Amino acid sequence: EGGGNVRVVVRVRAFLKRELDRQARCLIQMDPITQLTTLRAPDQDTVDSPIPKSRKVIEDKKFTFDSSFWSHNIKDPHYAHQEDVYNSLGEEFLDHNFEGYHTCIFAYGQTGSGKSYTMMGTPDQPGLIPRTCEDLFERIDAAHNENSNIAYNVRVSYFEVYNEHVRDLLVPVNPNAPPHYLKIRESPTEGPYVKDLTEVPVRSINEILRYMKNGDQSRTTASTKMNDTSSRSHAVFTIMLKQIHHDMETDETTERSSRIRLVDLAGSERAKSTEATGARLREGSNINKSLTTLGRVIAALADPKALRSGKRKDIVPYRDSILTWLLKDSLGGNSKTAMIACIAPSDYDETLSTLRYADQAKRIRTRAVVNQDHIS
Ligand code: ADP
Ligand code: MG
Repeated sequence: EGGGNVRVVVRVRAFLKRELDRQARCLIQMDPITQLTTLRAPDQDTVDSPIPKSRKVIEDKKFTFDSSFWSHNIKDPHYAHQEDVYNSLGEEFLDHNFEGYHTCIFAYGQTGSGKSYTMMGTPDQPGLIPRTCEDLFERIDAAHNENSNIAYNVRVSYFEVYNEHVRDLLVPVNPNAPPHYLKIRESPTEGPYVKDLTEVPVRSINEILRYMKNGDQSRTTASTKMNDTSSRSHAVFTIMLKQIHHDMETDETTERSSRIRLVDLAGSERAKSTEATGARLREGSNINKSLTTLGRVIAALADPKALRSGKRKDIVPYRDSILTWLLKDSLGGNSKTAMIACIAPSDYDETLSTLRYADQAKRIRTRAVVNQDHIS
């Protein structure tokens, strides 16, 4: 019932000032009817790609995803606002959470492609995370007002994986203490988890938004200190929703627990070889470790030959990196999962690599189950 493919959507952003300044051309087309996304080769007579047409003609690359969000020019009637992204993906995933399913939505793409804008957004243009929080508490408040016999319990955690270390974003940064990293454990029933991670109960929209902002602030503060780590760190915001239902007639109590995971991945671009020396190189290779392992995990899960052999568990290298270990369930197990591929409008090579990655993720199947227990 909960078996299905990873939902894959793509979103292209507007030009930034630096792109306008160099008079960049938009290489992306999206067909609002067929959802076909086309990546055109850069103009072959420009300095971008000084290859004479006669020598090599690069064909357009075409991809079809479950949805394509055109956020390139706001005047276009098909422009996808933050609200549209939430309505088409976030809302349905929250429905599943209330049904008792775990979900995971992760944003993938190069630095500057719009991952954080899509997941977190800005105060004026809130993204998927704050919209999910708001909708969650609107639904809970509505249920309370209807005197439903369901009790709700919401907890939240927020951590980042940087350089194969886990940092708790809900613990205030102490500038005088060395950074505190958390360890990973694996429980037979719950799977991999972060030991001693702060999990706070939240009772209102304002409370959850405050934790979200504090955590995000903690991520940014650390990142400005450490030379923009935010583009190299993976941020995982998790909401645990528990619904305790008491049936008056049978006097039975059941509990539904679902986990809402919202992930802002590190930039997918390969580390520039010129920068990668010494400590940078070590750091870089570790940062790439979670992302390259994610690529290998996705490739293993997407490979139908591996699926048929029935040994899938043995060949998916979840435990080779911190991120994939922690996201094991979300990627290949008990979860309904979506990937948002974020792309820049005029970056041919990085965009092609992101679209290919996304295309592969479409083939992954997960097996979500309703997480429900009779407790009395
Ligand atoms: P990433 O997190 O992938 O590195 P950001 O989300 O920080 O990228 O986006 C880079 C820049 O582009 C930011 O200034 C952001 O505000 C802007 N941006 C990204 N997507 C959009 C969008 N859909 N509409 C408007 N601005 C956007
Ligand atoms: Mg970002």
